[in-house]
Amino acid sequence: MTTVISSNLGYPRIGENREWKRTLEKFWSGKIDKETFLEDIQKLRLNHLQKQKDQGIDLIPVGDFSLYDHVLDTSVMFGVIPERFEYSDGPVSLDTYFAIARGNQKAVASEMTKWFNTNYHYIVPELNQAEPKITENRPLKFFREAKEKLGINGKPVILGPITYLKLSKGYKPEEFKTLLDKFVPLYITVLQELEKEGAEWVQIDEPILATSLQAEDIEIFKEVYEKLSSSLTKLNILLQTYFEGLDYYQEVVNLPVQGVGLDFVHDEGENLASIKKYGFPKDKVLAAGIIDGRNIWRSNLQAKLELLEDIIESTRIETLFVQPSSSLLHVPVTVKNETKLNSTLVKALSFADEKLEEISLLTKGLSQGKSAVETEITQSATAIEALNQSISRNNTQVRDAIRNLSGFSSDRNSSFKERYKIQQQEFQLPLLPTTTIGSLPQTPEVRKARRAWKNGEWTNEEYDRFVKEQMDEAIALQEEIGLDVFVHGEFERNDMVEYFGEKLGGFDTSSNGWVQSYGSRCVKPPLIYGDVHFIEPMTVKESVYAQSLTDKPVKGMLTGPQTILNWSFVRDDIPRYEVAYQIALALRKEVETLEAEGIKMIQVDEPALREGLPLKQNKWEAYLEKAVYAFRLSTSSVQDSTQIHTHMCYSEFDDIIDAISALDADVISIEAARSHGEIIRTFEEKGYDKGIGLGVYDIHSPRIPEVKEIEDISNRALQVLDPELFWINPDCGLKTRKKDEVVGALKAMVEAAKKIREQA
Ligand code: GLN
Ligand code: ZN
Repeated sequence: MTTVISSNLGYPRIGENREWKRTLEKFWSGKIDKETFLEDIQKLRLNHLQKQKDQGIDLIPVGDFSLYDHVLDTSVMFGVIPERFEYSDGPVSLDTYFAIARGNQKAVASEMTKWFNTNYHYIVPELNQAEPKITENRPLKFFREAKEKLGINGKPVILGPITYLKLSKGYKPEEFKTLLDKFVPLYITVLQELEKEGAEWVQIDEPILATSLQAEDIEIFKEVYEKLSSSLTKLNILLQTYFEGLDYYQEVVNLPVQGVGLDFVHDEGENLASIKKYGFPKDKVLAAGIIDGRNIWRSNLQAKLELLEDIIESTRIETLFVQPSSSLLHVPVTVKNETKLNSTLVKALSFADEKLEEISLLTKGLSQGKSAVETEITQSATAIEALNQSISRNNTQVRDAIRNLSGFSSDRNSSFKERYKIQQQEFQLPLLPTTTIGSLPQTPEVRKARRAWKNGEWTNEEYDRFVKEQMDEAIALQEEIGLDVFVHGEFERNDMVEYFGEKLGGFDTSSNGWVQSYGSRCVKPPLIYGDVHFIEPMTVKESVYAQSLTDKPVKGMLTGPQTILNWSFVRDDIPRYEVAYQIALALRKEVETLEAEGIKMIQVDEPALREGLPLKQNKWEAYLEKAVYAFRLSTSSVQDSTQIHTHMCYSEFDDIIDAISALDADVISIEAARSHGEIIRTFEEKGYDKGIGLGVYDIHSPRIPEVKEIEDISNRALQVLDPELFWINPDCGLKTRKKDEVVGALKAMVEAAKKIREQA
């Protein structure tokens, strides 16, 4: 008989009503003092633990809660603090902690980047010859707190040494082992202190195991975990993996630890297949990540029970943990407050609290028999079935269109070379045309107007008039600056995905479905619950109006299928790529409408193309092929003379240049100011044979660049790229900048373009 225990990996920090965010921001702006802040935060932290206990979770994670980010917490615990923050000794102050994350008067913040393939950002540790030491045993502190205040014997969570170092920068690959040797003893101390305090389990997160690793990495795992394990007698190590299956399954489950956590949701069946093929060590605990920690759908309990039974049957282990596939950090807190969504949809949702309930039910079902949870099994099946059977998921037109895609060409009428000639004729642009990426400053005035309209204080007419006035100004401004290709400014949009989510069929928006993106910043991804379809034009009114004000081309402006997909919660009853194709077909209609209404350049942004990549490289090709096809589906029906633009940012592109080229966009603008050297080297090797603008200045900074700087950076690119194909543009949209910063920077950019043209 297998003992079944319910467990959790991590709980959202933000609170039911984003109390966490509010408290943090009040503290940062000086509205509350440190004591009040710490008190409020502690209340929240304890409340989250209590909630998990009330939900019936046996093993409750402690130390996963953070004031900003868990990777930063790890750095601070080990004294990895960049020199510029002038830390010397002793406990790290709150000021220093937040300065690393957010910067201060004297020092710039550490870089942040995406946590694996999620939309959560962590603070990148800067090792630069760090001499790590323990500044505070953080897991111990929170273990004690949970025990003393709530009588919870928690499971401390700690980021594992190998993942931590792999996510860090500031060292050469050959220094990896030396660094590891410095950190491992510190981990041992932390763990031994936990052991002494009476902790039974520690969860060591090593999600790096779900990426493509080398055999030598696995050797390192063996060495490190041998050392950790042999220095403990009572404390059990749960080695936790998530986000995908494991390439080195056999090696990992045989590491000297007492339990291994595997993801049975995002592994494409690989983990179960490995278990069946190679077995699982009977003396170890298997922690089965069975409830999706990354998505918001209710689980079919019957199917989950069967999967768990299959796992037990195949392993015959003594102890099984039932848990989410990953930390619940990536899902909103509770469905309880969703009062505006239709009831079929609401019943099929499960956020963090509801997922914990599912975990409890599954645990009960396994230990007491299915009959103990019969009612809940039926309820879950009914709710899911109702959504599956609803007309929103059975749109015959969409279904037929997707079925008919096989053999449907996504090619433009002519090759880029031919289109290029026709478009040159059409637009008569100067050499090195200048343009921007789309959005212009979203001033407080713009936000206020949108709020007034959304609250019903403004009529549609009032709001439309306001947006038109903004466009009037924007077009006049672009004339004055002297740009060659204009944008309408995106004043009507709050966010590049939400805007389309509100207008496309098959989408809905939750009222409280927030998740942490970085620091206190939360996002509310739209819900794609049904077949996605075009209802009516989404951007045509604004584009046509802006174009009517000028003889310069104004780019139509859309968000691409992969980006909409990546920044939404996506239904999981059909493959993701199929949803991408549905979005693509809807966008195709928008593109066709724009073209019919006289818009001659259309930009389809795909900043998230790269971040949708699977963690393992051997899966990239299949993903990219479909992502490229989706983009082409949305853009390929236009005439040769219509110019398709795209834009990408927030990531590295060196290794996906071929896919980018396969999009067959006439012009691409890529963020490059911060990584110019790298990307230019890639183009040197590979070349690029379509229109391209490498961002010539960083829009993230308020600083207005010098003309000379922009000239230099452009000239460097022009040594590698064909001047006939080169565009001059900023790195990204200008929505977060102030108006005068934008005017100053764009004037400098236009001036630089003129100078380079003169020299040409
Ligand atoms: N067109 C969008 C804008 O300018 C692109 C935003 C983005 O790339 N993230 O805001
Ligand atoms: Zn961008």
